[in-house]
Amino acid sequence: MQKYEVVIVGAGTAGLMLARELGNQNHKVLILDRKKNLLEFSFNTLGSFIDIEKFGFTENVVAQKIDAITIYSKHVKESVKINGYTLDKRKVHEELIASLNMDFVDIKLGIHIKDIVKVDDLFTSVIDKEGNEYNAKIFVDASGTAAVLSKKIGFMPKNSKLATGIEYNVQYLGNDNEAHLMIGKDYKGGYGWIFPLKNKRAIIGFGTFDESMVKGLKANLHTILELPNIKKLVLKDNDKAEGGSIPITPVLEKFVSHNFLCVGDSVSQVNPVVGEGYKFIFESAIFASKAICQSLKNEDVNLLLQYESDWKKRFLNNYKRSKKAQERIFSTSKNDILIDIAMLLFMKLRPNYKNVKTLSGEYE
Ligand SMILES: Cc1cc2nc3c(=O)[nH]c(=O)nc-3n(C[C@H](O)[C@H](O)[C@H](O)COP(=O)(O)OP(=O)(O)OC[C@H]3O[C@@H](n4cnc5c(N)ncnc54)[C@H](O)[C@@H]3O)c2cc1C
Repeated sequence: MQKYEVVIVGAGTAGLMLARELGNQNHKVLILDRKKNLLEFSFNTLGSFIDIEKFGFTENVVAQKIDAITIYSKHVKESVKINGYTLDKRKVHEELIASLNMDFVDIKLGIHIKDIVKVDDLFTSVIDKEGNEYNAKIFVDASGTAAVLSKKIGFMPKNSKLATGIEYNVQYLGNDNEAHLMIGKDYKGGYGWIFPLKNKRAIIGFGTFDESMVKGLKANLHTILELPNIKKLVLKDNDKAEGGSIPITPVLEKFVSHNFLCVGDSVSQVNPVVGEGYKFIFESAIFASKAICQSLKNEDVNLLLQYESDWKKRFLNNYKRSKKAQERIFSTSKNDILIDIAMLLFMKLRPNYKNVKTLSGEYE
């Protein structure tokens, strides 16, 4: 008999939430991560519309409450009243780890998984770089953009496209609870953001969908920091750049194969246009956990497919629309006039609640 019912590869956003849900249902879970320290990240803050209580977090994860986002194109500026947060990523993950039911969840660090073994119609183990095998009834790839098993199974394209972002923690001269989003020619095929923190600090970032620009990302962020409207808002006082990449594949909708499934960036579950990863990936992990519980209870791997159905019902139309919006932004964002017109049509003339929906990635 296997010691574990579920092996999860990756103890990030998706893997930890899934382990929490499964552990709470008394399922034996092994979670493996190549990192030695789960609280070391390439970036440390998140903008999110998440309902922190609903997902079981405390106010401690909030780096700053956001009550307005101002969006800027070359000649148009629109403020949207919101209920959002800048989150402290480290604290979110600390609380997730602390919430794991350690009677049922084991974590092994420094384990770099490289392959999955299939015998007949079922997957039987995952294998690490040293050749060690980890057995279970169900396997999950939650390895983020590495998508180590998702790529092997063929869910995630082998050379998937990534959007990359870079950020600085800077002095902030703006309103304490106001975030800023910038789009247009100055942001060269992408967009810029400022998320407020406490104590007059903020995160300023620049991200692009244009892979040809990734090399010059830092130089671009420096140019952006010199723009007059940005200079009024932030002052760079250190050289510590943070950042990372998110997948920008076409919208994926296949996440389950036999007794194997994927959650999170390994199957591109971050919203394609607004980058809301945490809230939507947590929801996806909860869908996955429900299907896994049913599958284990009834000893029927076909019940894992319920996860795909739940995900599609909740996200598919939304993500397809977001993907189109992402492509439109990419194709027009080097043209200030088109972006100004889009801002007038889509932000200025619409009621606040519709703009909130768009910004939170919740298309109707
Ligand atoms: C610069 C940047 C800014 C972002 N801003 C926001 C934001 O403001 N708001 C928001 O909601 N989202 C944001 N996101 C998106 C969000 O961070 C991701 O969508 C989310 O973290 C993905 O979660 P995940 O669990 O799929 O992957 P991750 O959280 O990356 O976890 C993957 C885990 O798998 C491990 N792993 C990888 N390969 C292996 C392997 N071979 N063997 C074992 N372990 C492995 C990794 O070490 C890691 O711990 C941002 C992303 C980036 C890059």
